[in-house]
Amino acid sequence: MESRILWERSAAKIVSFRLTQRLRREGVPAERVSAFIERVKPVLGERCSTRFSDLVSYSRDYWPISLHWLLKGEVPSLPDAVVWPESTEEVALVVSAASSLGIPVYPYGGGSGVLGGAVPEMGGVVVDLKRMRSIRLYEEDFIVEAEAGVNGYYLESYLNHRGLTLGQIPQSLYPSTVGGWVATKATGQFSTKYGGIEDMVLGLEVVLPTGEIARFPPHPRSSTGPDLMRLFIGSEGALGIITRVWLRVQPYPEERILQSFVHESFEEALQAVRRVLARGAKPAVVRVYDRIETKRHFYAFEEAYGKVLTIVILEGSSEVVRAEAGILEREMGGKPLGEEPVRHWLRTRFDVREAPEFAPLGVVFDTIEVAAPWSRVVELYHRFKEAVGSVDEVLFVSAHASHFYLQGACLYFTFAGVPRGDPTEFYNRVWDAAMRATLECGGAISHHHGIGRQRRPWLRDALGGGYAVLARVKAALDPRGVMNPGWGA
Ligand SMILES: Cc1cc2nc3c(=O)[nH]c(=O)nc-3n(C[C@H](O)[C@H](O)[C@H](O)COP(=O)(O)OP(=O)(O)OC[C@H]3O[C@@H](n4cnc5c(N)ncnc54)[C@H](O)[C@@H]3O)c2cc1C
Repeated sequence: MESRILWERSAAKIVSFRLTQRLRREGVPAERVSAFIERVKPVLGERCSTRFSDLVSYSRDYWPISLHWLLKGEVPSLPDAVVWPESTEEVALVVSAASSLGIPVYPYGGGSGVLGGAVPEMGGVVVDLKRMRSIRLYEEDFIVEAEAGVNGYYLESYLNHRGLTLGQIPQSLYPSTVGGWVATKATGQFSTKYGGIEDMVLGLEVVLPTGEIARFPPHPRSSTGPDLMRLFIGSEGALGIITRVWLRVQPYPEERILQSFVHESFEEALQAVRRVLARGAKPAVVRVYDRIETKRHFYAFEEAYGKVLTIVILEGSSEVVRAEAGILEREMGGKPLGEEPVRHWLRTRFDVREAPEFAPLGVVFDTIEVAAPWSRVVELYHRFKEAVGSVDEVLFVSAHASHFYLQGACLYFTFAGVPRGDPTEFYNRVWDAAMRATLECGGAISHHHGIGRQRRPWLRDALGGGYAVLARVKAALDPRGVMNPGWGA
């Protein structure tokens, strides 16, 4: 933890700030930063900044615990410079300059990551990709090419206006970017039909940590050696900067059917969804809310109160969704509750006020998503709840199953607590209980948010022997260790 006094000239008066950086581990020598700026400024001009306000803006992402730091005037970590490249060549210039000087590089998309993944922990340069935002559609091939900084909502709207959809609708659709999706291996609310981003990526362009550009062009499928492109999906900025992505798109659905069901228990509802998937139906959205979450999100629906609500959206061509609706009617059991709970969800699904509203009240609030096969998912649900629920000062822990596969499901937990002492210490105690319970049940410690900085203590255990492979790949691609240093280690 480092404390420094920073100065900024603002409206002709000098303002002084005492700012604590919670995570900053090392400083970059000032002469190296100056040498970097000398190299890139002639090309980037004003798109390279060392202004204090810019450094503060890029000191954090959407990591909930950093809200508590901010309330005390603390930031995770300041970079030394921020750049806004507009082309792959400019990204290559920035990375090769930084790499030759041994300066850390942190790619930054929308900053909607919830685990501190984009925090410039070692100082250095933040590379904001949002000025790289061109889109090109290859309509006949059902392929869209998007630069990394394309905003998620903008891309989906662009496709919808042309009778298409990507089917990638994360709750962070508005603040996230295509590059961020690929870098974190994100997945959307409609994933049970459309898959995660990894199922959509057909090709990639990436600037390697040395500044070289590698392109993996899009094909319907190819068998040309190992699928190296996949190394970069989920690499969270540690193996290079993704600059362009080719994604497969689909026709915009002809028909949508909304259904909901009430069950007596979480287990019963999960089994019903398993039966539906085993019959070959592929709903776009399936969400099973446990008792607490049914009360939290659907309190207006009396028949569901105190029970377990499942909402389903089927979409696609009419013949297919009607056949799928028939499967649901036969297999779901429980009590059908119609369209209205699903409409309520559609109206409120981007509402995420809790963490910022609760933080000033001293409430620590966060979500943790994990996954397990059917044979362990119920055990994981109970073990996780028990482990987190018994952490001192936790107020509640609840869950819904948010993404489904023929092999299992994602459990998306929410917890809140009011710590008497340091919020960070409390937060880490909860995460430790959660991650241990997940590992003990053989679960995946992350389903779609990634590792970032919050999950790194458990990455080694989660990957087992794979951790050494990751370390070797990292050392081979990034010998100077400049790309997102601190991530995963
Ligand atoms: C309210 C809310 C809801 C959310 N809902 C979902 C959800 O439904 N599904 C889901 O998957 N996630 C969700 N998230 C998490 C987050 O939105 C995703 O992880 C998203 O993919 C991050 O994209 P971004 O552009 O904001 O990336 P950032 O937050 O800017 O970056 C995330 C990581 O990727 C790296 N990175 C970013 N761009 C690049 C690039 N071009 N090349 C290489 N590395 C890069 C960064 O260095 C960092 O490590 C949610 C977050 C919030 C705040």
